[in-house]
Order: sequence, then C-alpha cells, then structure tokens
Amino acid sequence: MAQEDVFKKLVSHCKEYGFVFPSSEIYDGLGAVYDYGQMGVELKNNIKKYWWDSMVLLNDNVVGIDSAIFMHPTIWKASGHVDAFNDPLIDNKDSKKRYRADVLIEDYLAKIDEKVNKEVDKAAKRFKEAFDEEQFRATNPRVLEYEAKKNDVHTRFANALNNSDLEELRQIIIDCEIVCPISGTKNWTEVRQFNLMFATDMGSTADGAMKVYLRPETAQGIFVNFLNVQKTGRMKIPFGIAQIGKAFRNEIVARQFIFRMREFEQMEMQFFVRPGEELEWFKKWKDTRVKWHKALGFGDKKYRFHDHEKLAHYANAATDIEFEMPFGFKEVEGIHSRTDFDLSSHEKFSGKKIQYFDPELGKSYVPYVIETSIGVDRMFLTVMAGSYCEETLENGETRVVLRLPVALAPVKLAVMPLTKKDGLPEKAQEIIDNLKFDFKCQYDEKDSIGKRYRRQDAIGTPFCVTVDHQSLEDNTVTIRHRDTMEQERVAIADLNKIIADKVSMKSLFKQLGE
Ligand code: ATP
Repeated sequence: MAQEDVFKKLVSHCKEYGFVFPSSEIYDGLGAVYDYGQMGVELKNNIKKYWWDSMVLLNDNVVGIDSAIFMHPTIWKASGHVDAFNDPLIDNKDSKKRYRADVLIEDYLAKIDEKVNKEVDKAAKRFKEAFDEEQFRATNPRVLEYEAKKNDVHTRFANALNNSDLEELRQIIIDCEIVCPISGTKNWTEVRQFNLMFATDMGSTADGAMKVYLRPETAQGIFVNFLNVQKTGRMKIPFGIAQIGKAFRNEIVARQFIFRMREFEQMEMQFFVRPGEELEWFKKWKDTRVKWHKALGFGDKKYRFHDHEKLAHYANAATDIEFEMPFGFKEVEGIHSRTDFDLSSHEKFSGKKIQYFDPELGKSYVPYVIETSIGVDRMFLTVMAGSYCEETLENGETRVVLRLPVALAPVKLAVMPLTKKDGLPEKAQEIIDNLKFDFKCQYDEKDSIGKRYRRQDAIGTPFCVTVDHQSLEDNTVTIRHRDTMEQERVAIADLNKIIADKVSMKSLFKQLGE
C-alpha cells in the first residue's frame, strides 16, 4: 500500500475509533487544532506517564513542576521569542496558498534523496547478488549528478538560514524551479518573516491591559523557576526540572494531522550542569532519550538522529530524534545544548541574580543547560503509525490491529460473555469488578465473538477474556492475545498476575537502564 494511503487510513482510524477528532467539527473544524477522544486521551495519558516516570521516578536528580501558561511578557523578550521566533513564509500568487520557504526547500532536497534511492533500488534488482551499493553510489554518473545538485542546494540553503537571507531563500526556490503543489506555478511572492506567537490582552482596558503571549514552549517556565526549585528542593548540580504542558504556535502551514498543530503539548526537561561539562551531558541525554523511544519496540531502523547545522541563537549543539512516519523521517524530539543563554538572559532582563553556588568548586556560576523536548502529540502520532497494521489472515480476511506497546494501550482487557444469558454476563461483570482497580477494562456483549475481537484489535487491547459455560463450573476462562491471536484456558484467579506482568511499564523502564 502506498504510504500516502497508509496515512489517510491512519487518520480515519483515529477518528472512527475515538482517538482523535478535528476540533469544533460541527462548525467545520479549526485549522490545525484537534481534540482527543475517549481512546485517545487514555493513550495520551499513558505516553505522558511513560515520559514523566522515566524522568522523575527513574532519576533521583530530576524533579517536576507545572508552571502557568501565561507568563510575564518580558520573559519572551529575554528568551528571544519576540524578536526571533519567526518562520520564513512565501505565498503562491496563483493558488493564494501560503508555505514555509524552508520547508519547500527541505522537501525538494528530500525528493532528490528519493531519486537516488530509486536508482539504487533499480540497480540492486538488476545486479542481484553481485550488487555493491557503496561502489554504485560512488561511481554511477546519475547518482553523482543528483548528489552534486543536492550538496550545492544544501550549502546555499544552510548559508541563507544562518544569515537570515530571505532573498536568497526565494532565489533557491526559483533556481530549483520549485512549483506550488496546488497551482503548479512558480509565481512566488517575496519571502517574509512571520512571528509564531499568539498574543492576547490580560486585565480590563480600564486598568491598562497588558499584552501577554500564549507560551510557545514550556521551557521558559522552568528557567524562571530555576532558583525556586533549586533552593526549596536543595538541589545540587547536575539536576533536572521536567514539565508537561500546553504550548501554542501560530504555524503557517497546518498539515499532516497532529504532526503540526497550533495548540499542542510538550514534555520538556531542562538539565542544569557545570559550564564546560555540557557536551558530555548532551551525549548522555541523547543516548538516554533514543533508548526511551526504541524500548517501545517499533524497530531500531525507524529512528535516526539529525544533527542541526543551523543552530538556534541559544545553542552550541543540537540534534533531532526522527521517526519514520508514513510521510518520511520527521522530528519527534529535539535535544539541545542551550548553554547559559536563557538563565543569563533572565538575569539581565529581570535584574535578579540567577546563579548557583557550587560547594565543590567553591564558586558561583550560571549553570549550562541540556534540554530534551518532545511533543506529546507527535509522539502520539509516532505510536499510532508504529502500531497500525493491516494483516491478511489464513482465511483470507483482513484484520486491522493496533500493535500498541502493551503498557500504553488505552484498554488493557476486554471481558466478553459468550452469550447474553445463563449468568454469563454476571460472571463477566464479576471479573471486571475484581480487576478494574488495576487495569482499564471494557465489557462487551454485543455481536459475535469474532466481531468483538476485531473491535478490540482496532483499539489495541492486548487481552480479551471470554466467559463461557465452563467458566461457571470451574472458574476458568479463555484469554486471547492480540498479536498472536492465540487463546489459552486459565484460572480466573490467575488473570491479575498474567496481565499485570505484561502491562506494567517496568518492562520498558528496565530497557532504559541497559
Ligand atoms: P519543527 O521544526 O517541526 O517546527 P521545532 O524544531 O520548531 O519543530 P522545537 O521548538 O524543538 O520544534 O519543539 C520541540 C518539540 O515540540 C518538537 O520536537 C515537536 O515534537 C514538538 N512540536 C513543535 N512544534 C509543534 C507543533 N506545531 N505541533 C506539534 N508538536 C510540535
């Protein structure tokens, strides 16, 4: 199936089974804003718990906070967001559609890569076992031509971004003959900078309202609380502060479902270290974070690092963890070495000393910071894309199954009486009453057992328990496993243990320590 079709199916699956709905749908929706449904919210909460516990529970030197969305407007001056949180936008005069100039060029570069890969695939098929990919890439004239073109555009692009040269960005679009996907024309406007922050007024006008921003990242709430947490928690460097919360960005192009939203949620952790030790910690957190992703079991090949060439104004090293979405490898998480930029800047703008006295060194300094920043919604999309699967069964039927990591599944257990009579529903309910304090359970008595299994497969429920007449006699049930579809007969009394072992996040956490 084409990847585009997979993505479309995934989006409609999210809606059909109560994971994600377009916001304000009965009013025709609101661009790049989404609501999570009854299944979605459970999955999202489990993702957040997996992240939170991996930070705050597993590291005794990481603590959490929950800061307000509204903050003093000078914070965004100090952080650089008022002046520099911009995206370069360009319009196509014929379609009147708006694009990010940098994204148009990135897509163009990705297309060149695709062309090279196609050449390699073709040759691999032609030469079979005798194929030497490395040699082919190093010598094939067409591949070399593509690579030279890519390198040339890439260098120009990196320079234009580093110098904020908007005219050059436009020139690259023209020189590469990039067309608008809607109108198919090259009739482009100038490139302009566009600030992504939402602003609103706080207080009544009579009092003199103050312009405040909806935070575009949660990180600043951590920086301005650095001293509060350090002092009240008697924290010693190195230590981290974690936070999960909403962030808002007036994204120019709303595309790709929950990948790019205007209201989204972030899970961020700022780790404060001694100056000079930041790159060591950067490497450590890079390793830790990619392990966190890989522990979910979607396959190591689905992940790659993308080191930044254009560093943000605050960073001295930065990398993205990318996941292979149905629309290509895309950033899910950023890991940034932010130097002492933020804390120093808040010192300057607030006039308050923000320093740490290091008892071992016997001196005070502004700590350096490593940040790990991941979008909950992008992670949600990663999990859905990694889990969605259409299988052809032996009898020729297809089944759609969400192979969710068991610990993240919204419902852990469905309990189904074989029929609606003879006391089977009561027995099923009794099982739920015993297990519901430990796991999210669902009772289902409608339709054939086969149909009920399919419904649970579609929402990723790892276990289905069927209560039949034998259950009334000997207190046993069949338990069916989602991935293998295997069934076994077990004692009702053993259910808790069988399920608890599998659904616990412990098995994920253990992999992080390895
Ligand atoms: P992009 O280049 O895709 O716009 P970014 O580099 O601006 O992302 P960061 O500022 O590093 O992103 O934000 C950290 C994380 O927050 C991202 O890795 C992503 O998971 C998430 N994120 C950022 N913007 C959005 C958005 N508009 N919608 C959903 N998640 C987002």
